[in-house]
Amino acid sequence: MTVTPATTNLEAVRDRIARACKDAGRDPADVTLVAVSKTFAAEAVEPVIVAGQRAFGENRVQEAKAKWPPLIEKYDGIALHLIGPLQSNKAKEAVALFDAIHSVDRASLCEALAKEIAAQGKAPTLFVQINTGAEPQKAGVLPQEADTFLALCRDHYGLTISGLMCIPPVDEAPGPHFALTAKIAKRNGLALLSMGMSGDFTEAILFGATHVRVGSAIFGGR
Ligand SMILES: *Cc1c(COP(=O)(O)O)cnc(C)c1O
Repeated sequence: MTVTPATTNLEAVRDRIARACKDAGRDPADVTLVAVSKTFAAEAVEPVIVAGQRAFGENRVQEAKAKWPPLIEKYDGIALHLIGPLQSNKAKEAVALFDAIHSVDRASLCEALAKEIAAQGKAPTLFVQINTGAEPQKAGVLPQEADTFLALCRDHYGLTISGLMCIPPVDEAPGPHFALTAKIAKRNGLALLSMGMSGDFTEAILFGATHVRVGSAIFGGR
């Protein structure tokens, strides 16, 4: 095993997750660390895989397609998470490559995903992204439209949605955004919460995050 800055950082992030779980009275096994490897080359990612990390996040289908197939071939148990916006015309490639998609946010995408899931006989774990800050430039369903959208996913498109994802506004305290996302998930019977990035993952764990998406705290600045 090669020690790199990223593998040292990985250890530190794991320790902080364990401590946050302890503080929250939660089982660390219920929190998945998704190591966000976007913009980093396979050579930078591989030592982190060798150090035992298995869940990785990418925000672009094309980048993931170029980087991951040889690594998936070489190492058992890699799970790829798409955390960035997905265009409907890339749904086919996304369903083929990713184990989870965190950015479901509109009917046209649901339709494309439902078609590909049926065609490929393979269903990634799906999260609906909630735009908790109602930011115009940000993807995601508005909080007040979440229940209706989740019913549409289920009843009209036959999709199984397992959880919710949010990205709090950069200039606001994240706690209320995590709390709102958790509340919407709870009333809709959704078990998974994709919340928390490098700057706020320990806080997200206190609010119930089951998936923390941590990039720069592991791989360094982009
Ligand atoms: C890049 C990205 C992350 C990771 O951000 P860091 O601050 O580097 O941890 C998490 N979630 C999404 C959706 C991202 O695009």
